[in-house]
Amino acid sequence: MNCNGEIIVGKNGNEIIECNICGFKHVYPYPKNESIAKLYTEEYYEKAQPEYIKKVEEDKVWWLEVYQERIKQISNYVENKQKVNVLDIGSGTGYFLLAAKEEGWIETGVEPSIQAYNYSKNQALNVHNEFFSEELIQELPLYDVIHMNHVLEHVPHPQTMLKLIWNQLKPGGIFCVAVPNDFNPFQNMLVKDHNYEPWWVSPLEHVNYFDFKSLTVLLGNNGFEVIDQYTSFPMELFLLMGDKFVGNSELGRECHFKRKTFEMSLLKENNIEVKQNLYKAFASSGLGRDVILFARKPKV
Ligand SMILES: [Zn+2]
Repeated sequence: MNCNGEIIVGKNGNEIIECNICGFKHVYPYPKNESIAKLYTEEYYEKAQPEYIKKVEEDKVWWLEVYQERIKQISNYVENKQKVNVLDIGSGTGYFLLAAKEEGWIETGVEPSIQAYNYSKNQALNVHNEFFSEELIQELPLYDVIHMNHVLEHVPHPQTMLKLIWNQLKPGGIFCVAVPNDFNPFQNMLVKDHNYEPWWVSPLEHVNYFDFKSLTVLLGNNGFEVIDQYTSFPMELFLLMGDKFVGNSELGRECHFKRKTFEMSLLKENNIEVKQNLYKAFASSGLGRDVILFARKPKV
């Protein structure tokens, strides 16, 4: 693909362009596939994220609540609710799959990291220790639901992966995708008015930078019909309230605990509507830490 566009930020010799061809922001040139493969099979959970599994485990109760909510949202759009076949691409520690299994869905995960794969196996989850690839899908059936949390921002030429996902969904099937919501209005405000550097730019790990608009267009260009959008807590609120957690992982953790406490109160049965109305309002203003889209593969 002949990518081109205005350079919007440069970091450590890597430049991010507003690509006119792809329609979203990405590192250009993209890193080579081999270095990416090594990062996620061997290095990611060991070196790049040494405490990652431990931290995620500390948050297990909250993650399960978050994913139960997401599964209920997906479920609203699933036509045949009996024996729902779900594929989670980049299933990590397997908590989405656990929540899906609890819902009675038939779970399959794909996870290249050996540490995360072993952790999932210990929870008796059905996971392939591989990348989601052309070769792997030869062995896989078609799915009613495909879920992908925080993967697409790591993948060079994400259009290729979206084509594989499209092929692996049943007609009428649901694709739920979540990525960081980058260059969002709160972040831009913090850079412009509060002297922050664009701290969310991390070109070695994140090669793509999406927002609600660009991800919606990308899914549309790949044949999906986007039917709903949602988000997670806008973490930048802490920065705007004076909790300067950028570069301070301890304070970052504290802010994360506050957001968990807030969400755990809202996730209770009687308050879930309050949470959903609030977070949908954030999403429709382009705010919230994640872009979460629910899309359908049309039947015809
Ligand atoms: Zn491009």
